[in-house]
Amino acid sequence: MIVERPKLTIWDRLYMPQILKGMWITLKHIPMKRFTRQYPEETPPLPKRYRGVPTLVRDPEQRVKCVACQLCEFVCPPRAITVIPGFRAETGPDAKVEKEPSDFIIDMARCIYCGLCEEACPEEAIFLKKDYAMASYTREQMKLHKEKLLELGGIHEDRICKWKKK
Ligand code: SF4
Ligand code: SF4
Repeated sequence: MIVERPKLTIWDRLYMPQILKGMWITLKHIPMKRFTRQYPEETPPLPKRYRGVPTLVRDPEQRVKCVACQLCEFVCPPRAITVIPGFRAETGPDAKVEKEPSDFIIDMARCIYCGLCEEACPEEAIFLKKDYAMASYTREQMKLHKEKLLELGGIHEDRICKWKKK
């Protein structure tokens, strides 16, 4: 079977119809709405329950709420948490609480912002904030220690009241 080639006109040989047709399809797909965001100057709106960076909190009287039980360390899927338990002073009004972390390290390069640590904590001492930009030049700088985590977490209402005598 012989297939006859169609005869091309000069206009066809210039490929102009095809080029114009292609450009028309491209123009049809140019959106009227602008989707590009000038990050970081323009940040996206976050949902109410957005899970960001995990942080440690203090109670309204500036006491560290964490009791170094290590439950969060145990549940953390990527093993981003390292708790180094320490003992509190046994005298004074806060003697009822035996332990607190001498250091508490969260490796933000490992953390997947899952929120399991917050759910597991019996003392409501660790909370996920809405911050998510934790960039750094080295892996070591991505490991946040106790003081930095407490600074990020700030003060949180104490519903556990472990300090009060029964
Ligand atoms: S948010 Fe998830 S991954 Fe991050 S420290 Fe907590 S348990 Fe680990
Ligand atoms: S943050 Fe909560 S779960 Fe983790 S060690 Fe402290 S008290 Fe325990």
